[in-house]
Amino acid sequence: MTSPPSSDLPDPQPTLGELRAGPVNVHVNCTGCRRPHWFKPEDFRGDDSVTLDELAARMRCTRCGRKDQLEVGVIPEQWVRYLRRTGQFDRLPEYAERWFPPGSPYGWP
Ligand SMILES: [Zn+2]
Repeated sequence: MTSPPSSDLPDPQPTLGELRAGPVNVHVNCTGCRRPHWFKPEDFRGDDSVTLDELAARMRCTRCGRKDQLEVGVIPEQWVRYLRRTGQFDRLPEYAERWFPPGSPYGWP
């Protein structure tokens, strides 16, 4: 399962503070060389208000060096679990019901 690009997530974007609170990990895929990579919140520096898009803007592929080919997203089940746990149902991404339906480990509370 791959993460959708962060642009698929409704605003407001996830912030570093929310990634830390989850915790929610970040998935990065380079479409230039097809290299996937995963990051934990503690891999990033910055204050809690930094958004996922701002984190993405800092990144560069360690293999091919490109910046413009990166798809950056959160790990879907971790993000959905965080939003449901904190009651932010209006921020649930469009795929939440389809991928994590009622009865799934990350289903409706
Ligand atoms: Zn690359």
